[in-house]
Amino acid sequence: MKYIDEFRDRDLARGLAAAIAAAADPTRQYRLMEFCGGHTHAIFRYGLADLMPANVRFIHGPGCPVCVLPMARIDHAITLATQHGVTLCTYADLMRVPAGERRSLLKAKAAGADIRMIYSTSDALRIAREDPGRQVVFFAIGFETTTPPTAVAAKVARAEGLENFSIFCNHVLTPPALRTILATAGPDGVRLDGILGPSHVSTVIGSQPYGFVPQLFGKPVVIAGFEPLDVMQSTLMLIRQLNEGRCEVENQYTRTVTAEGNRKAQALMAEVFRPRETFEWRGLGFLPDSALRLADDYADLDAERRFAVTIGEVREVKGCECPAILRGVKEPTDCKLFGTVCTPDNPMGSCMVSSEGACAAYWSYGRFRYDH
Ligand code: SF4
Repeated sequence: MKYIDEFRDRDLARGLAAAIAAAADPTRQYRLMEFCGGHTHAIFRYGLADLMPANVRFIHGPGCPVCVLPMARIDHAITLATQHGVTLCTYADLMRVPAGERRSLLKAKAAGADIRMIYSTSDALRIAREDPGRQVVFFAIGFETTTPPTAVAAKVARAEGLENFSIFCNHVLTPPALRTILATAGPDGVRLDGILGPSHVSTVIGSQPYGFVPQLFGKPVVIAGFEPLDVMQSTLMLIRQLNEGRCEVENQYTRTVTAEGNRKAQALMAEVFRPRETFEWRGLGFLPDSALRLADDYADLDAERRFAVTIGEVREVKGCECPAILRGVKEPTDCKLFGTVCTPDNPMGSCMVSSEGACAAYWSYGRFRYDH
């Protein structure tokens, strides 16, 4: 298959592994954070950690959109469906994420709430068109990658005059989270030497927005694709930067990412959304300017303004280490619940549910290598 097999070629992988082994200075450590959950899964699925020298270590970051959503926002969505009687449309991974009091969207659906799994924003719009007498809310989540389609849905709803459609907006922004991780790195946080930058997010925002990482924090960034050879080549690029004392934003994923990104998608986002003053991230707390709300021109499509919901304090599941894992300071196998109480069939935290979650990656591809 063109453009897939080439990036999984075994001989090329061997060559890259040898180049990394030759480049890695045995007298120093290379602690490289892969921001994206997609990279975490590539690393485990293809056994990339085993191809690295012992002093080259991958540290998992907060780049899983389902994992970073705080439980209170899922409680909010459940309340919309159960108390306001709306049809709530969302993506499958969110359905099983534990919310407060051991609730989840799936359990609320089983109890009778009208919660639908969808594959795209088009599905949510179609559901709204088919039942004009019923309020339909799209539970929007994700980083900059999934934000433009939500903007398109808002514009389509506006153009069609769909009065029964609204958006519960939970879109978050990558650079503020990266800034927080780096600002807290060190003795109180994770120790990092370089960053494997996200792929799909960078397709939208470009490589320029990462310039603050070398400038303010003195760490190199390499935007990395999701295929195994992408990750290996990016790792080699980071190691070479560190060895040479360089500190730059480099782009390995040139087949998709440009310096300026997708201008059309950015314009859509700028038209439909505005930054929130603050937004809570699971594991990282409340971060300023780190998420989006609907712009005032689209306020009539904002489910938070259309339906009044009050959510009390929501406590994490006792023993779940998702917050520390999302900060990069712990690994899934540091969690006492991993593989015992918590499995993909019976998840206790978001990191075990999501297809980009670190715990799901350890369980699916790596659990037999860990004696826990
Ligand atoms: S194993 Fe389960 S309980 Fe532990 S951190 Fe991961 S998701 Fe949370």
